[in-house]
Amino acid sequence: MTPTAPITQDMLTITRKLPDGPTNLVGLTRDGLRDVLIAAGTPEKQAKMRVGQIWQWIYQKGVRDFDAMTNLSKSYRAELAEKFVIEVPEVVSRQVSADGTRKYLVRIAGGHEVETVYIPEESRGTLCISSQVGCTLTCSFCHTGTQKLVRNLTAGEIIGQVMIARDDLGEWPEPGRAPKDETRLLSNIVLMGMGEPLYNFEGVRDAMKIAMDGEGISLSRRRITLSTSGVVPEIARTAEEIGCLLAVSFHGTTDEIRDKLVPINKKWNIAALLNALREYPRLSNSERITFEYVMLKGVNDSDEDARRLVKLIKGIPAKINLIPFNEWPGAPYERSDWDRIESFANIIYKAGYASPIRTPRGEDIMAACGQLKSETERARKSRKVIAAEAGLT
Ligand code: SAH
Ligand code: SF4
Repeated sequence: MTPTAPITQDMLTITRKLPDGPTNLVGLTRDGLRDVLIAAGTPEKQAKMRVGQIWQWIYQKGVRDFDAMTNLSKSYRAELAEKFVIEVPEVVSRQVSADGTRKYLVRIAGGHEVETVYIPEESRGTLCISSQVGCTLTCSFCHTGTQKLVRNLTAGEIIGQVMIARDDLGEWPEPGRAPKDETRLLSNIVLMGMGEPLYNFEGVRDAMKIAMDGEGISLSRRRITLSTSGVVPEIARTAEEIGCLLAVSFHGTTDEIRDKLVPINKKWNIAALLNALREYPRLSNSERITFEYVMLKGVNDSDEDARRLVKLIKGIPAKINLIPFNEWPGAPYERSDWDRIESFANIIYKAGYASPIRTPRGEDIMAACGQLKSETERARKSRKVIAAEAGLT
């Protein structure tokens, strides 16, 4: 794609039901689950109760086999097993970094692959999940951006990543013994893996509703953060329909530089983005917006940039997350020097904003921010092409 090409979204309709196969129950909303149960012969009067029971087995207890659902009659279990499956994506490989970060290569329907990363920390464990195979956007510093969009993930494939991580962590609590969020191994979700989550709004929304549902995985909406490159028309909907926290890939303080780094800026520029953020429905001091800012040597890391950033976001409850650039093969940028990052952070801190510098995690297994890229439809571009597309040559 050339830098001037329009940014488009490939919308593929993905049916959950294979032509002749059974329907996968994973990823259906409560209403969706009710509908398929009724269509399969469950009496309407019982449907609500059955939804609750099946939901708990799948999302609270991690059960994949209808036969284990002991509060349902044997004949009903057999009927369910005939018509439905409980399927999560397949884990093709799992790599564990020296720092404990785990990267899963996950295979979804059609043989496509995405990556999911688990990052353990002292007081929490964060799962970074993917929402698309590849990405339509072509941010010049992002490895995923060199891979063409193949398709949106279904809600089942998105929540399925949480389920396989829980399988791997052995974290399906006994009934009645659900741990508190802060003591869970998987306590937080960030939609910061492959893809632009707001270009797969419905899939992401339905999956996150499942993650937050109190009868299942039951994570607080404040423990879920969705990161967008700036899909302005969908920003308010994120607060209204999902209710999670928002992070924005800001990265540039003038339209000229942001156009090059985050090309969606040509469609919705800095002013339009900031407007949408100022009006973000849930905005408050306790629910600040995270501004992500990748530190690229000599590109966006000057003191002047830091001062401009502070001016731009004035009045928005915000925290600024500085991300040292993570290298990938062929990347046309370098990470800013440490003293530069600190000087940048200092200016922001003095202006009254929290400015944590994100420690790169899992770099040895290419699991750090922006390093994810699967072999699916690999369209590896050369360093020269990437640099040209970024308008750097
Ligand atoms: N598509 C969404 C979410 C995925 S990217 C978005 O762009 O916001 C998650 C974060 O990692 C984004 O802030 C992204 O800009 C950043 N990122 C991408 N490539 C990176 C790299 N090579 N080094 C550091 N951060 C990177
Ligand atoms: Fe896509 Fe986000 Fe990477 Fe940009 S930074 S190419 S939006 S995944």
